Amino acid sequence: MIRFLITFCLVINYAVYAQNIIESKSISGKTTGKQPYLDYGLGGDRLGGAKMTYLDTGILVQAVDSTIGRYKIQLSKNRSAWLPKSNFEKDTSIEVKPYYLTASLLITGDEKYDWVTVSLDEKLPYTSIQQINPSKIVIDIFGATSNTNWVTHRTSAKEIKNVYHEQVEDDVFRVIIELKHQQHWGYSIFYENNKLMIRVKRQPENLSLDKMKIAIDAGHGGNNPGASGITTKIAEKNYTLLIAKRIELALLEKEADVYMTRRGNESLGMLEREEMINAEEPDFMISVHLNSSVRESVKGVSTYYRYIGFRPMTKFIQESMIKIEGLEDFGNIGSFNFALSGPTDYPNCLLEVAFLSNKDDEQLILNQDFHKQVAERVVEGLKEWLKSCKKNED
Ligand SMILES: [Zn+2]
Repeated sequence: MIRFLITFCLVINYAVYAQNIIESKSISGKTTGKQPYLDYGLGGDRLGGAKMTYLDTGILVQAVDSTIGRYKIQLSKNRSAWLPKSNFEKDTSIEVKPYYLTASLLITGDEKYDWVTVSLDEKLPYTSIQQINPSKIVIDIFGATSNTNWVTHRTSAKEIKNVYHEQVEDDVFRVIIELKHQQHWGYSIFYENNKLMIRVKRQPENLSLDKMKIAIDAGHGGNNPGASGITTKIAEKNYTLLIAKRIELALLEKEADVYMTRRGNESLGMLEREEMINAEEPDFMISVHLNSSVRESVKGVSTYYRYIGFRPMTKFIQESMIKIEGLEDFGNIGSFNFALSGPTDYPNCLLEVAFLSNKDDEQLILNQDFHKQVAERVVEGLKEWLKSCKKNED
């Protein structure tokens, strides 16, 4: 009788679910194209709307509404987000199941990375956040209900302290990854078949600059000149390159391994830069820009991050930079929607050295000695940051 009731309920459930889809006219599809992403809402500014997450391709998504350029995706019963239409590929052959289950979790390590593998019935959408004190990566998998009765921790995992999970809503499965070190060194999320893979970067064993691989990105270039100087009309692209090369030189003097996204006047798109940097698997990345404001009085240096776990490097660079005479503190800014602040794969910092739209700052930017000071202050900030990582080791 009980068994009959359960079967009966499942049938009813499925029928109701199927009916809802027809009534709401949802369209099933998969994520496609380069770097699909979800926005929380329809807000936006010059850098776009607030992003919930980047997603892998081939992920099952259900569009329930549509607006110019976007589909509203129903992630779970209570959560939705907006996906660019160019990242949606309609697929009516998909038979959407009434629910999807999770299976076992595996935590393991290879010679370079730690890995968390989450076995699922289907490639489902996810989002992740970084938490600090203590440091954790928290991943929500939408449309997934727990049938996880087996979590294997292998000793080959070096950076991951613990992994556990929680069913936060009927159809939202949360995976919590506790890290050994306070500093987040980055992670990548993608699917291998129906297995969600989280590749976690370990804290480097030797935290000195000569053991680091550092990516330096000179902003703009080629057909993208960036901002221009208020009195001299100098192009941002030329001065970001001069400063980036100075930083490179200062880092090479410390015997760091440096990767430059450009060394000349190349035109590079943001996606291209991201792909180039990702392929190098750097320990961290700094993108050099010069700021501009419609208000001429605004001046000073600023550093930007998107994820809280990546804040420390940007904070140390900011604190070091403001020691330069004549350079004001515009601030250390979080949740920033700059494309190169988006990757979770490595700590990254957008450095807006000074304002081209301010006359005093423009004079600094023109001065080669200032470029040298910037390079020295960046190196100093990085050294202090790495020292603090050492101090915070378990
Ligand atoms: Zn710029």
